[in-house]
Amino acid sequence: MLSDSCYSGESDDRSGPELCKLFETDPSESWKVGSCTIVPDDATKIAEAVKSRCKLNKAQIEQQDLCDVVVTTGGTGLTSRDITIQALAPLYTKPLPSFSTAMVVGSLKITPLAALSQVSCGIIGSTIVLSVPGSRKGSSENIQQILPILPHAVATAQTESGSSRALHAKGSAMPGSSNHSIQDKPQRARKLCACHNHDSDKLDGKVPKTQGSLPVNPETTVAGRQRKSPYPLLPFSDALKIVLDNTSAMPVQERAVCLDLVGNVLAKDAIAVENVPGYRASIVDGYAVIASDGPGVYEVVSSTTAGDVDNYGTDTQALLQSGQIARITTGAPLYPGADSVVMVEDTEVVEASEDGVREIKIKVNIQAADGDSIRDIGSDMRIGQIILRKGDTISDVGGEIGTLVAAGIPRISVFRKPRVGIASTGDEVIDSINNSTKEKDISLPPLKPGQIRDTNRPSLIASARALGLDVVDLGIIKDDPETLEAKLSKATSQCDVVITTGGVSMGEKDWIKPVIENRLGGTIHFGRIRMKPAKPTTFATIPGQDDASPNKLLFALPGNPASAMVAFHLVVLPAIKKMSGLDLDPETMGLTKLKAIWGSDDVKLDKVRPEFHRCNIAWKDGKFIARSTGGQRSSRVASMSYANALAYFPQATEELKTIASRSEVDVYLVGKLQ
Ligand code: AMP
Ligand code: MG
Repeated sequence: MLSDSCYSGESDDRSGPELCKLFETDPSESWKVGSCTIVPDDATKIAEAVKSRCKLNKAQIEQQDLCDVVVTTGGTGLTSRDITIQALAPLYTKPLPSFSTAMVVGSLKITPLAALSQVSCGIIGSTIVLSVPGSRKGSSENIQQILPILPHAVATAQTESGSSRALHAKGSAMPGSSNHSIQDKPQRARKLCACHNHDSDKLDGKVPKTQGSLPVNPETTVAGRQRKSPYPLLPFSDALKIVLDNTSAMPVQERAVCLDLVGNVLAKDAIAVENVPGYRASIVDGYAVIASDGPGVYEVVSSTTAGDVDNYGTDTQALLQSGQIARITTGAPLYPGADSVVMVEDTEVVEASEDGVREIKIKVNIQAADGDSIRDIGSDMRIGQIILRKGDTISDVGGEIGTLVAAGIPRISVFRKPRVGIASTGDEVIDSINNSTKEKDISLPPLKPGQIRDTNRPSLIASARALGLDVVDLGIIKDDPETLEAKLSKATSQCDVVITTGGVSMGEKDWIKPVIENRLGGTIHFGRIRMKPAKPTTFATIPGQDDASPNKLLFALPGNPASAMVAFHLVVLPAIKKMSGLDLDPETMGLTKLKAIWGSDDVKLDKVRPEFHRCNIAWKDGKFIARSTGGQRSSRVASMSYANALAYFPQATEELKTIASRSEVDVYLVGKLQ
């Protein structure tokens, strides 16, 4: 579901909501209204807003957050400011002049004034785009002319061949024919989105005023603000899917094999360029022997130690003869002529030099076999062998870095790590992280009543850094639309992902959402999730600087610290994993779910929201035991300390009202197991 920000700036300007109603009450029951948004009279912004909602290719046809039909209202008149049609015409994959004709002919029957407004229809990708006048009456009259044929037109635009013949062959009928009600009934509700093009000049550059059940925006008066959020409460899994559908992997880059690679994901297989070991090497400390000599007393002729490169393999080094053995250390090259190694524990000293330094004769107590205790050339890694695969993460365990270095690989292809900007917002929030190392400077600012210490930014930055992310500290942003706009605009140009906390609830200072939509030209994909805590979690995309730049992701998380952290782990990190190049399983969507035994008291289930209960899990007697971290109020940051998991408790039903102690529960892992 796209943002539901259909609002108008002037009291008589109601075409957006009116059109929504028209589609929602259409007897075909074909339509699900996705979002309404307002766009200034700016050709680029109009084109961007419309394009961002269109299904541009076949792969996007099933994408729930994109639209089958986009309607724009306004900007179709005769003045120089009316540019909607010119803005959209270059985007049409196919113009639909007959739709426009149907609208004009029908509307002219109602009023000759219809001739004063242009209309324009076309297909962009597989989305039908209808541009109609801004007036309430004019827009709905035009739409009504083509509404009955629209479900069929959508289906036709989406058939694989792109021709309506395929559709007819399958038995679909045009509206009005006898089998219309059965075959032409859409499989799923068509997604509709209305873009209302508004004359920005008339608004003095200000964001238009919110009305009715529309989103709060910066210029709203306190008394006039909404009393209920207009954002639908999305199920958690739907919200996460929307996030991932709007997320793609970062560009690939070549990097030297270095320590900073921890957290990077390989974009190409890594191939060994050297054999490991590069020579026949001893696995133990002992004696290089000729196996067929068997047990017995032998003369010790020489020794090879690991790293003794000057002596080894030179012409002066004689071959080991039958009756001789040579001392050898772990990792040293095998003495020429020897074929196995006997470990020192399987031998005894028979004769030593007088000073006790040198071994002269040694008794070998066991029968060695050919190749015993020897690592052959390339037996750990062979030249040309794939040692790490595309999609593998270079972990903090250390093994991948070690493997790359051992295999003599100087550089690898990885997905660039996303650059993540983290900001707190709020006039009351006081910076309280102290990076000073000088004892005398280690102090915190005192708080006045009403002020709180910024706990979100330190928590999130610490967590993101520990995950190896490239983090930008964006500081604390005041609750003021101009500052928010300036800071977030800079942040989205610098970073691939921007995370803010605070300012997304129903207070009069909660300005993030309107700033995203009205000032940054962003699209809010959702503004609430049915979850406890973190209900107001908001996800938006902000267009890149130019056509070539990708959209930036903006996660506006709730201000309460536990909510912010839960949303970060459950909603933001899966997106960051996908951006980092991980191929996420559509089932688990980047989250790690485990079964655990609930080791705390019974928990009463919430009546309306599933709960993600902060807890600690530990392995005991063959099971994970999950223990609550205590009070779960979303302001209680301490409920996240010691937490390494979130237990999932569904919302209450008639049958299930409580999670009983000792019952099995699902938990999402968010930290490390200890
Ligand atoms: P808000 O969403 O801005 O209304 O904030 C909700 C609650 O979270 C308020 O009590 C805020 O004071 C608190 N809060 C907001 N930001 C932070 C922060 N960075 N650190 C700690 N608490 C915060
Ligand atoms: Mg606030």
